[in-house]
Amino acid sequence: MILKSIKGTKDILPSDSSRWQYVEQVVRGVFHRYNYKEIRTPMFELTSLFSRSIGELTDIVGKEMYTFTDRSGDSVTLRPEGTASVVRSYIQNNLGEAQPLVKVYYIAPMFRQERPQAGRLRQFHQFGAEAIGSPTPETDVEIIAMAAEIYRQFGITNFTLKINSVGDEECRPRYKELLRTELMTIADQLSVESQKRIEQNPMRVLDSKDEKDLALTKDMPRITDHLNEECAVHFERVKELLTLMGIPFVVDPRLVRGLDYYTKTAFELTSDELGSQSALAGGGRYDLLTQELGGKQTPAVGFAAGIERLMMVLEKNNFTVPALRPALFLAAADEASRGWTIVTTMELRSRGVAVETDFLQRSLKAQMREADRQLARHVVVVGAHELAAGRATLRNLDDHTNREVELGLLADAVMR
Ligand code: AMP
Repeated sequence: MILKSIKGTKDILPSDSSRWQYVEQVVRGVFHRYNYKEIRTPMFELTSLFSRSIGELTDIVGKEMYTFTDRSGDSVTLRPEGTASVVRSYIQNNLGEAQPLVKVYYIAPMFRQERPQAGRLRQFHQFGAEAIGSPTPETDVEIIAMAAEIYRQFGITNFTLKINSVGDEECRPRYKELLRTELMTIADQLSVESQKRIEQNPMRVLDSKDEKDLALTKDMPRITDHLNEECAVHFERVKELLTLMGIPFVVDPRLVRGLDYYTKTAFELTSDELGSQSALAGGGRYDLLTQELGGKQTPAVGFAAGIERLMMVLEKNNFTVPALRPALFLAAADEASRGWTIVTTMELRSRGVAVETDFLQRSLKAQMREADRQLARHVVVVGAHELAAGRATLRNLDDHTNREVELGLLADAVMR
């Protein structure tokens, strides 16, 4: 029997990995320019971390987590998202002690048992960032601008930035109650899923996927009309700064995001090129999470973005990345010269030159084909004659020019 990978997981093959490395490098570059530093947390955590932070009533905790009991009887979960782990680490390691504002990013695999489809995997990858310790709208805007900047770096500009405010612990309960009362009057016409949500999480009814639900709730009260003074001022400032920075946005009062821990600003970047799974990235402010996880109350804001979704847009745009290429292919013209080519290959590699040679005892013709296949920039054929003379012909495979080089100076010749 041939063993296959698990449904909803994907190998990143050697032919794809340079694209991934390139994407990660660009993403890191933006994070570093914004002065965010990398944090790496474990891939699995105690289940209670996620159920407490993301919320028992969310889809993620309710039906998507990879949870199992380990041999010591602990319930552990493969992380479905990054924020909970980062905040856990922030509290556990007292990161807030050294500086008032901690800015971190991650690039990591996440795990959710969803129904696999285009753009939706069970192991997928996210990059994301968290700014922990700042209550200001300026920090929300830094996070949003940074997310948008990453897409711009890849030439992706046709995305939509949706923003909303989901209020705080003071004004949201009042709004929820109002919404619940209104929803009750049309409950019997709503989808079963939405009916279930009225009691526990009425705001989620507003982001229902059901067209009929959307039409029925069109004129429902909007949270943006029911924010308290503090949340309203905060939201105005976010909008003002985005406008000043020339970042286009639309206010979407239905945007509530799936997770319970958001307060004030919520946002999402979507792309029309993605079909039904149109979300590129999402984020928002979560001022209550640190406290919820046992730390001091600490305002924070962050975002997470799907790398596979970004890749899908790049593919649509025919975006190409520079291939990894050996600077030199050392070909042996005869058996006697193979000792020299192998030793010299290793030597040049240790001097920092990317070199490939033949390990399959192939004919000279086959070696030349291999040099082409590997996209080597140069090739040198070395036989008894060259070894005796200490010189050989260096062929540039890009412009098809030849030049004589001393074998002792090969490194300089191909690095130039
Ligand atoms: P979320 O944490 O659900 O807000 O997800 C943030 C981003 O991660 C989304 O906007 C997607 O780009 C990506 N994402 C979420 N779930 C999946 C999945 N199952 N497969 C691939 N990408 C995903």
